Amino acid sequence: MDLMEYQAKELFAKHGVPVFAGETVDNAADARAAAERIGKPVMVKAQVKAGGRGKAGGVKFCPTAEEAEARAADILKLVIKDLPVHKVLVTEASDIDKEYYVSFLLDRANRTYLAMASVEGGMEIEELAVERPEALARVAVDAVKGVDQAKAEEIADAAGFPADVRDQVVTVLQKLWDVFVNEEATLVEVNPLVRTPDGTVLALDGKVTLDGNAEFRHKDVFDTYADVVADDDLEGRAKAKDLNYVKLDGQVGIIGNGAGLVMSTLDVVAYAGEKHGGVKPANFLDIGGGASAQVMADGLEIILSDKDVRSVFVNVFGGITSCDAVANGIVQALQMLGAAASKPLVVRLDGNNVEEGHRILAEAAHPLVTVVDTMDGAADKAAELAGSAA
Ligand code: GDP
Ligand code: MN
Repeated sequence: MDLMEYQAKELFAKHGVPVFAGETVDNAADARAAAERIGKPVMVKAQVKAGGRGKAGGVKFCPTAEEAEARAADILKLVIKDLPVHKVLVTEASDIDKEYYVSFLLDRANRTYLAMASVEGGMEIEELAVERPEALARVAVDAVKGVDQAKAEEIADAAGFPADVRDQVVTVLQKLWDVFVNEEATLVEVNPLVRTPDGTVLALDGKVTLDGNAEFRHKDVFDTYADVVADDDLEGRAKAKDLNYVKLDGQVGIIGNGAGLVMSTLDVVAYAGEKHGGVKPANFLDIGGGASAQVMADGLEIILSDKDVRSVFVNVFGGITSCDAVANGIVQALQMLGAAASKPLVVRLDGNNVEEGHRILAEAAHPLVTVVDTMDGAADKAAELAGSAA
């Protein structure tokens, strides 16, 4: 899960990384009140999960509270990299003498962690890496040994931090490593880390990605920072129902049990779709082993609310959950959904108790349901229905 700047800075503060405190608000009047409480010139900063906010006009220096109100009003109207700005951070403005860059990340290619640091911060790091690669130090970090005093010194010296800030940077690096390890992040980045004219080192921006696989150990943090899910956010709604769902850009909704079966279903549907106007799978959805009516209804509900979907292919192999249980699940799910079930369903069942499954579906005789015995045949039917609905 990616965090916004203000959330990253809250984690920084918790682990002793120096940041200015601030307030996050969603309207201009509150931005003014926050600036008045701070009582000094402030920065008003768009809170969206994207970099380059400065360039997009989302970061403004405001010498007065009136100015903070006006700039907040402007920034709250911005859309930065397709993300509408709903919140701004109002934080004390810092004078800047020098801008630096530091980060820790998971280096998958080298199967280790990586520290990156540069005394030429401020510019976007992708640009720096291309234009001045020699200015960006890269130091591998052993997962077990981590970043102790000696490792932090090695990183600071590889980047060439000058003597007057070296000790502070070495301390900041160790504290950022504490954030990385204790919060189970896959990325912690500060750009810029700055030196103020009085020689203090401070994190002015923060980017943190938390490891979703560690969510169960950090429920409080994940719950606090979870995004409010919009109605049209299919993946967010699926996640809230614990469904294993990934949105794709096709027209044939897919439900299956078992990741392998669903992956091959995507392939056969994409192949069959070539004969029917190039329709493609609309999603990945693995409903797992226990295909209860509720799970089937939740899955169908998400898929049917995808406006791109024109037909749905339910491809289930009965194992521990037998085909009759799945067939009952489908029938009950359609009852639960009522009029919301509005698109044709092609069902292919195989495996344990398949005859009983077929009998249940035949008896229910739902007008939207077509049963096809083979996976290829069902894929073809689902693609045909999606193609002709265009
Ligand atoms: P980004 O563009 O999304 O990376 O947002 P940043 O938080 O990094 O802000 C962009 C730029 O605004 C920084 O690189 C700084 O040059 C500038 N900036 C941010 N905070 C301050 C501040 O407190 N004082 C001053 N003078 N400049 C700031
Ligand atoms: Mn930045």
